[in-house]
Amino acid sequence: MTNVNKNIIETFDLVKKYGPITAVDKLNLKVPEGTVYGLLGPNGAGKTTTILMLLGLTEPSSGKAIVNGYDPVRNPLEVKAMVGYLPDNVGFYDELTGEENLLYTAQLNGIEPIIAQKRIEHVLKRVGLSKDGKRKVAEYSRGMRQRLGIADVLVKDPKLIIMDEPTLGIDPKGIRELLNLIRELAKEDGRTVLISSHLLHQIQQICDQVGIFVKGKLIAAGTLKELEQQLADRDRLQLELKAIPCDDKLLTICEGLDGVNNLRWEKDLLILECQTDIRENLVKLLTSQGYCPVHLALRGVSLDSIYLRYFQKEGDYFGQDGWLKGLEG
Ligand code: ATP
Repeated sequence: MTNVNKNIIETFDLVKKYGPITAVDKLNLKVPEGTVYGLLGPNGAGKTTTILMLLGLTEPSSGKAIVNGYDPVRNPLEVKAMVGYLPDNVGFYDELTGEENLLYTAQLNGIEPIIAQKRIEHVLKRVGLSKDGKRKVAEYSRGMRQRLGIADVLVKDPKLIIMDEPTLGIDPKGIRELLNLIRELAKEDGRTVLISSHLLHQIQQICDQVGIFVKGKLIAAGTLKELEQQLADRDRLQLELKAIPCDDKLLTICEGLDGVNNLRWEKDLLILECQTDIRENLVKLLTSQGYCPVHLALRGVSLDSIYLRYFQKEGDYFGQDGWLKGLEG
């Protein structure tokens, strides 16, 4: 059984500099075993560099990483043996079939041919490619290639799987299938999955915890609930209210309510800054006064808004369209 308290990845003031650029800046990352962890951040935030250090593919400038008890700099082979890595652009031999490619990976990893054959059959089924195993990879769609990439990683039977932007360029149906599969790898198999992504809504669907990266620094980390709480503690709670009728008396009623610090209009929404969540009292009061609340929501409850607000605090990450630079949606 998985020990939920153990961190399979832990970094200690990990730094990577490329000349004058600090790609990763005193990173202290903790990834609990058996979870799906999302490394979230725009292009150039330092996600790939972090992954390369975890895999022992590039050396830290200072600090260190520990992966399943091993330092990737000192024990690269031990780390390699238990980690499966799916890069953002998986390379296969296009003229070979899916099965042949997997067999090649199995050979490279010293897996006996008889065991490899059985495992390949199993992993192809697992990723939904049983019928396509004998087709050349050149004929595969991008989504199929990604699933073959996961099969390729699973051939090694790794404890930890690291994926760099796994859903890029895949259609919505393919994305859904891939996300379900990633979730299963943690929930059913007990593996740990670390995903680097800039696609917030996808991360939100499948990750137990997220870490938000800005300019090589982890500026927030934890479960979605914890991130919401951190925001709520730091800023005051904000409620959005729309009620009928929408008149001046509505403002006076809300102003007089205990726990309301501030009020303002945003188009037809009344925004109430509060010390605590006063929604229940607010609804009682409004209905007793003949108002009908048609919209009442607590702000900052989606990862999108958490992400945007953390980035807003960091300043210059917005393009002219007001959306995060490097974000597609
Ligand atoms: P992306 O999604 O675009 O890959 P990322 O979050 O993975 O973004 P990194 O690729 O880790 O970010 O890059 C972090 C910073 O380090 C960037 O400023 C990048 O230009 C720089 N960088 C990365 N690799 C090198 C390298 N080999 N030499 C010099 N600078 C590099």
